[in-house]
Amino acid sequence: MPTLASPTASPVLGTDLPDAHGRFGAFGGAFVPEILHPVLADVREAWEAARDDPEYQTEYRRLLRDYVGRPTPLTRLDRLTERLGGATIYAKREDLCHTGAHKINNAIGQVLLARRMGKERIIAETGAGQHGVATATACALFGIECVVYMGAEDIERQSLNVKRMRLLGAEVRSATSGSQTLKDATNEAFRDWVSNPTSTYYIIGSAIGPHPYPMMVRDLHRVIGEETRAQLLEQTGSELPDAVVACVGGGSNAIGIWAPFFEDEGVRLIGVEASGEGLDGRHAATLTKGEPAVFHGTMTYLLQDADGQVEIAHSISAGLDYPGVGPEHAYRASTGRVEVRTATDAEALAGVRLLSETEGIIPALETAHAVHALAAVAEEIGAGGTLVFNCSGRGDKDMATISAHLFGDEG
Ligand SMILES: *Cc1c(COP(=O)(O)O)cnc(C)c1O
Repeated sequence: MPTLASPTASPVLGTDLPDAHGRFGAFGGAFVPEILHPVLADVREAWEAARDDPEYQTEYRRLLRDYVGRPTPLTRLDRLTERLGGATIYAKREDLCHTGAHKINNAIGQVLLARRMGKERIIAETGAGQHGVATATACALFGIECVVYMGAEDIERQSLNVKRMRLLGAEVRSATSGSQTLKDATNEAFRDWVSNPTSTYYIIGSAIGPHPYPMMVRDLHRVIGEETRAQLLEQTGSELPDAVVACVGGGSNAIGIWAPFFEDEGVRLIGVEASGEGLDGRHAATLTKGEPAVFHGTMTYLLQDADGQVEIAHSISAGLDYPGVGPEHAYRASTGRVEVRTATDAEALAGVRLLSETEGIIPALETAHAVHALAAVAEEIGAGGTLVFNCSGRGDKDMATISAHLFGDEG
């Protein structure tokens, strides 16, 4: 049985959550095999030192600027605002990051940390391959060995991303156990880490997993929200919007844009989960339909069947197709600070079309779930209000799926 890693009290700076045990209220913690307790403690200590070290921060910020292309723009969407007829809508353009989504912010920050810790090898697991590509990219940038675990089934389904990773110099290892998908790749990655704890650093790709990952991944994406505040101030005269909308898979793009707004009670924070074929069918709406459970090293909400087995999630977007969610999301949703909504596969496809036609921005299918929620939220806020949504990624990677659904065989 996995056990809770013994905590060593350490001050957590910058925010009061999580506590020293990595807990967000009843959620979070570090439920891992005993052998990984000291390994996680090393990562936590290294992260807490790096986060407060000007040298690390300067290097991280330099790479975000000169390699990732930050700050990303905050774009006022005039035609979409007019079409929806309510609050003025702004998009935070993470789709313009190098590699096409927000994930690179985290991958670069963690590779920098691994180097600082003297690690010579990086491992990661990936489902759709987006986190694998971001990690392989950051490893190529530093010339560091990279092994990415991927379910055999996913290797088949996501062959373009597999080729990208190989081109970037990463080794893609097939996980052939179980359902041969993300969950099995995660198990293999943990097994690798247990066998190579000294040489190897494990990069987790969302605000999930055992402490300190949910905290660290949030802190690495916090730049999204910080830039948004500064850009809003410049463009509107106020750094506080009425609402910030983001899609939630594991929860990294959402927690990154929300983190600087948690204390601003007037700012509504709205997360959009994938309700797939509908909440009565196959879906990935973990905060809406899940139950508390330990999953991937943390206490969080999880989609389970009647026997308490992990349910296979479903979403048209691979990045939201995950049966768990980050523990801070479980906490923020349970306290009511974050409002949770859903969008189905069909609604996400309509969101792709809407943003493409009105603004010339083809969003990722994940992002399109947030686009779907904009109509209702813009109306609730009303004209004169301000609404920001996190445009987490671009849709090129999804064109085959999008065209098959929207144009059928003409695709
Ligand atoms: C991976 C991904 C997501 C979902 O991951 P989060 O950790 O919830 O942000 C959302 N949007 C895009 C474009 C992605 O690639």
